[in-house]
Amino acid sequence: MVARPARLTPPLQCVPLRDPESDLEGVIVIHSTALGPGAGGCRFWSYPDMDRAQADAMRLAEGMSYKNALAGLPLGGAKAVLRKPEGAFDRTRLFRAFGRAVEELGGRYVTAEDVGTSVADMQEVAKATRHVAGLPPAEGRAGGDPSPWTALGVFESMREAAAFALGSELSGLTVAVQGTGNVGADLCRHLAEAGARLVIADPDPRRREELRAALGARVVDVNEIAEVEADVFAPCALGGVLNRESVGKLRVRLVCGAANNQLASPDVGAMLLDRGIAYVPDYVANAGGIISVSAEYLGETETDVAQRVATIAPRVAEILERAAHENRSPAAVADEMAEEVIARAQRAAA
Ligand code: NAD
Repeated sequence: MVARPARLTPPLQCVPLRDPESDLEGVIVIHSTALGPGAGGCRFWSYPDMDRAQADAMRLAEGMSYKNALAGLPLGGAKAVLRKPEGAFDRTRLFRAFGRAVEELGGRYVTAEDVGTSVADMQEVAKATRHVAGLPPAEGRAGGDPSPWTALGVFESMREAAAFALGSELSGLTVAVQGTGNVGADLCRHLAEAGARLVIADPDPRRREELRAALGARVVDVNEIAEVEADVFAPCALGGVLNRESVGKLRVRLVCGAANNQLASPDVGAMLLDRGIAYVPDYVANAGGIISVSAEYLGETETDVAQRVATIAPRVAEILERAAHENRSPAAVADEMAEEVIARAQRAAA
């Protein structure tokens, strides 16, 4: 996990979770409620100690404030991090206890899936609280797997960025996609349809072979994908892939992908700028997922989701234009724009 200095004010609330009977141990961090209830998924992971879990929750909750603000959602930022017990445990009981903790916050925190949690877990949470999303969708309502929306937002962001930074349509460009999971595979399908050439890597043979056969993608080793010669690099697997070392080895002109926290540290944004590589800030491009989750929680329809996802690409254009005009990293510009949105809401509420 990559540490990043706090940019906004410190979290509003840290709620420790400890219930030995259900093996629940973790924390809910509410970073900002300026725009609405703090929303962000529940991570279930093996942390060596609570300090590490808490640090991760604070960093992730802050990131959700930025993502939700720039996506134009009526939501603040928050996150829950639960420590995975070392021995045997009753999963149903643990997530039911987590649901009770969410309920006690009375709607200040809205949870959903994140790394290590599933729809089934959220269904248990939903037995104790209604402040949860990521459940199977009701007829005609938004909800369900958010990955297709994430992939669509990334695809449209890439099309916009390619036009702005490379002066080109996606047709004929080569895109290197790192990770062909739920989002990466869908992104590949959009790209193939748009006439792009694909180079892909994934440690899971089933996932990469399917795309090779269906889309004619060239498969490379996972250790090569960030260094192949291409027009665009699309990180769709891990965080922290853009670091001081890897940026020097990139052979692309644009980076645009779905992975969260792609920049290992803030100075990497400036390194990309120095190398003349355009960068679409991760949390702007990948907002389709939280847009879907938010619509589900607010009882909106798929049409609402589609309309909001369609605003991602124009926002990318605005960020890239402002960054180019001011000769700054798009990552820094996006952060500043998110802070402006939150500060405006704070002033309006004061
Ligand atoms: P996923 O688990 O379905 O897919 C990730 C894929 O990456 C897997 O196929 C895995 O085998 C592969 N992978 C792992 N290590 C790799 C490596 N070193 N090189 C290449 N591939 C590797 O996850 P996902 O839902 O597709 O999400 C992908 C990324 O996008 C994650 O960083 C996630 O946090 C982010 N994201 C996802 C959503 C969403 O709606 N699913 C929303 C916002 C952000």
